[in-house]
Amino acid sequence: MADHRRLGRELELFDTDPLLGAGLPYWLLDGAVVRHALEEYIRAAEVRAGYRHVYSPVLGKRELYEISGHWAHYREDMYPPMDVGGEELVLRPSLCPHHALIYRSRAHSYRELPLRIAELGGMYRAELSGALGGLARVRAIQLNDAHIFCTFEQVEEEARAALDMIRAAYAALGIEAARYRLSLPGDGGKYVAAPEMWHRAAELLRVVLEASELPYEAVAGEAAFYGPKIDVQIVDAGGRESTLSTVQIDFHQPARLGLEYIGADGARHWPVMVHRSVLGSVERAVAHLIEVHGGAFPAWLAPVQAVVFPVSEAESAAAADVAHRLAGLGIRAEPTVDGSLGARIRAARLVPYQIVIGPREAAAGEASLRLRDGRRVHPQPVDNLVTRLGVLIGRRGVDLWDADETVVPPRYT
Ligand SMILES: [Zn+2]
Repeated sequence: MADHRRLGRELELFDTDPLLGAGLPYWLLDGAVVRHALEEYIRAAEVRAGYRHVYSPVLGKRELYEISGHWAHYREDMYPPMDVGGEELVLRPSLCPHHALIYRSRAHSYRELPLRIAELGGMYRAELSGALGGLARVRAIQLNDAHIFCTFEQVEEEARAALDMIRAAYAALGIEAARYRLSLPGDGGKYVAAPEMWHRAAELLRVVLEASELPYEAVAGEAAFYGPKIDVQIVDAGGRESTLSTVQIDFHQPARLGLEYIGADGARHWPVMVHRSVLGSVERAVAHLIEVHGGAFPAWLAPVQAVVFPVSEAESAAAADVAHRLAGLGIRAEPTVDGSLGARIRAARLVPYQIVIGPREAAAGEASLRLRDGRRVHPQPVDNLVTRLGVLIGRRGVDLWDADETVVPPRYT
């Protein structure tokens, strides 16, 4: 596995500037394309799964985090408050309290539950500069976050569905969990005190993990301060383990922030909050994708999805036309004309689809296709090829082509 920091610079995905500061990378053109594709994927997946999206500010009053418990339990990871006209504002360390306030802003009946609120939002962590590196540990984080407000009876099904979403996303991204961890509280004052609550929440997560038939380990001392969680762990090129995805059950914040719903019995009840993140931080997700794929992203994420090579100057108009038609389907395609064909193919080694048009293909209105992995596809009418690439990329998987008779085995000459 290659270090994403080196590849990120080589492939011009992201960079840093000492004038911006450590842990504050910026995204270059190609990296921004990957990130955007990832964000579009998760938003669409969330909409299909019944989530509703919101926007909320990245700042809030210190008082909000005192009420939520972050100030007492999480302060060392937060930036110091800013005094603005006598009010103390902090950069938010999480999105939870904001979503809780959005929930609280309207009355809710049990009939509206589960209410799934999602946001790709900024949050901030005052990491020490020694702990920072590339995209994997940053001080400004874009989090794929969601909070499900539901009844106690709905928790298990919501947590299970969130875990399914995580597994589906990993399949689309071509990544694998290193392990699943049931993160439980440890000793010390890091956790809110409520033994009965911890026990019930942990048992629910255990039931979800057992039903999923995933192997997991229970680890004490890794829970959130407000509740236990399922953490999906990944390992980076340096062998370091970190959490990418998470599903958490929280009985604490709904009570602290005064959330309620009217039950079937006409009485007020506290909802449960299920915190879940599928992609985790967008920064860490892209860092991991760079390392796992060595920059050869699945086609739907690739900065350039198709290159079109005219064999000679005579086919350049035909190549430009194919690139134009691909672009019309939303495919990121470029005609490439400079240099020898061999040099152009080497330069495009990470591009999933490499279309070659020689004199014979141009005359017949056809094109040949070479896949990034070396496989070749017989020349076929341009219309067919363009439509086929649209379907293959649109299904957001890791396979570049269906394994059928049109693919000729790689030539090693
Ligand atoms: Zn949360």
